[in-house]
Amino acid sequence: MGSMEASTAPENGSSAAGGGAGGTACNGAGAASNGGGMERRLRSSAASASWAAHLPLEVGTRVMCRWRDQKLHPVKVIERRKGSACSSPADYEYYVHYTEFNRRLDEWVKLDQLDLDTVETVVDEKVEDKATSLKMTRHQKRKIDETHVEQGHEELDAASLREHEEFTKVKNIAKIELGRYEIDTWYFSPFPPEYNDCPKLFFCEFCLNFMKRKEQLQRHMKKCDLKHPPGDEIYRSGTLSMFEVDGKKNKVYGQNLCYLAKLFLDHKTLYYDVDLFLFYVLCECDDRGCHMVGYFSKEKHSEESYNLACILTLPPYQRKGYGKFLIAFSYELSKKEGKVGTPERPLSDLGLLSYRGYWTRVLLEILKKHKGNISIKELSDMTAIKADDILSTLQSLDLIQYRKGQHVICADPKVLDRHLKAAGRGGLDVDVSKLIWTPYKEQG
Ligand SMILES: [Zn+2]
Repeated sequence: MGSMEASTAPENGSSAAGGGAGGTACNGAGAASNGGGMERRLRSSAASASWAAHLPLEVGTRVMCRWRDQKLHPVKVIERRKGSACSSPADYEYYVHYTEFNRRLDEWVKLDQLDLDTVETVVDEKVEDKATSLKMTRHQKRKIDETHVEQGHEELDAASLREHEEFTKVKNIAKIELGRYEIDTWYFSPFPPEYNDCPKLFFCEFCLNFMKRKEQLQRHMKKCDLKHPPGDEIYRSGTLSMFEVDGKKNKVYGQNLCYLAKLFLDHKTLYYDVDLFLFYVLCECDDRGCHMVGYFSKEKHSEESYNLACILTLPPYQRKGYGKFLIAFSYELSKKEGKVGTPERPLSDLGLLSYRGYWTRVLLEILKKHKGNISIKELSDMTAIKADDILSTLQSLDLIQYRKGQHVICADPKVLDRHLKAAGRGGLDVDVSKLIWTPYKEQG
């Protein structure tokens, strides 16, 4: 839970599973391969027949690939593997990154999806590095990390090596089944090795145990007596419930939740030490049980006043206001604790957008109603939003001036209305009267 990642906050409009991802999926993810001016491309006009001699394609090859929209899109080969039965060069499968799309759409494709007439041989040293780094053992990598740090190599320091490593991570699980949903995954997740190359994993939606085969899940469901997440139900309003799960008391559940979440979070670092965290699991409840919609995690004790480590809304539930609900809920907990809070950094672009929206709505609603002067400290006390976040939000909206050594909030009602409109709707409301909760410390 080291690096907070809210990229899946639900209102981001880039649900890959929804199929309409093309327009919104592009972001900086592909930049790692575009930045270098070192690439020399040897464009070939050779016909596919002669390319048969070059099969299997090399890692780093650029080629056009038929995507799920049935159109051709440029891809780069990230990894390759031998097909199931025979070992003919035409039988390889390729893990490709669509250079126009977000990395979450990387996938294994078969040769017949590739248009071999468009193959470009890329002499790209960075790709060579990546290919090699995939084959290195962890020990070798660490050694290289250390060596490069010692030598102070600018281009190949530990951080960029890690970035390479991240970029070349091949998605290991393509789909999961969870409750009544089958969900396409977005990213690599470090499941135990025996689950790798398992095209689909079957999760028990209540205890989050996962299995390789449907029959195993069916057997499990007959025995599993959970109908909701373990832990205490601390909120119920209508069909929505929030459960607080202590990672120390429910270690396996906490770990399973992390494995599951990583499939949809790009930069999240997984720690197995779930003892130190509380998990707030949001559910939609019906007569079959409480079905997980999303969650956020929170350190039990944070020196940096973090009130949220990771946040995720599962793809089938995205764009319904649940992400905003989770953010609002995290601040309601902070208010009950009598502390200010802030999300763990780094925030993804989309995570920052979700938070900016929340901060803008909350702060501007107060400024609109408030008569007379109000200080950032007062705003912070009222909202549990950290002063730095208030300052940066108001600054980004140009609502703050620095006069005579102090910050002054300038709030013209018309301007406030305009910003509020731009910040969008607040999603589902948290009904504080339905929150029954004692902060962790007091549970002793
Ligand atoms: Zn179960």
